Amino acid sequence: MTEFYVILDKIPTSISQRATTLPEKMLKINEMFETIQGEGAQTGVPSIFVRLQGCPVGCSWCDTKHTWTLDDAFLTTADAVMSKGQEDESHFTADESSLLALFRQRGYTASHVVITGGEPCMYDLRPLTGLLHSEGYSTQIETSGTFEVLCNEKTFVTVSPKVNMKGGMPVLTSALDRANEIKHPVAMQKHVDELDALLQGVADLSGKTVCLQPISQQARATELAITTCIARNWRLSLQTHKYIGIE
Ligand code: SF4
Repeated sequence: MTEFYVILDKIPTSISQRATTLPEKMLKINEMFETIQGEGAQTGVPSIFVRLQGCPVGCSWCDTKHTWTLDDAFLTTADAVMSKGQEDESHFTADESSLLALFRQRGYTASHVVITGGEPCMYDLRPLTGLLHSEGYSTQIETSGTFEVLCNEKTFVTVSPKVNMKGGMPVLTSALDRANEIKHPVAMQKHVDELDALLQGVADLSGKTVCLQPISQQARATELAITTCIARNWRLSLQTHKYIGIE
């Protein structure tokens, strides 16, 4: 769910079609690694990142376009995914139990799990988040808000609403209502206006953190985000992992 400007590719028709038949039950995992959460209210928290495969949203500035496809031709083993040296479409499938076993096998010590994508809410995340909480982990989902959020009640949900993207998928009010944090990428005033329009549909904003995140660390976007956050008492989210050179 990280973002910066790149050239937009066409969304494969198969992804749009699959989006109508999801959520998927088996998880398809493009990447898994331990790092520090770099964005939003959980910045600085040691985290296991699980990047799920598949996204029909089509953001022009997406930097994980290799996660868009759900083509089984790219299925491989967990070992192959864990050892790949570059970003690509390859992914493995796992259920929640085998994923937890993999955390232990890898010797991960972080107790916070960030489920990202791609669009993680294409999947029913209740089995995974429920198991992780019962095993002492905290969980976080980073979603575009274009799918219903199916997760444990304790999961911290970050909705980064993607409005009017190429895939033509509306941001769901139910996703915004479930959000603990609404983190909006901004480059220009129209993005602030989009967020204002979305927030008008949220039944209760109390208890939710609203963040603006400058797209691609651009100077003008950062200035806009700072002035708007101060005026609205919103929070500034910087992609700190990009400043310090970690994943
Ligand atoms: S919603 Fe999908 S297309 Fe948009 S930034 Fe996230 S992964 Fe990329």
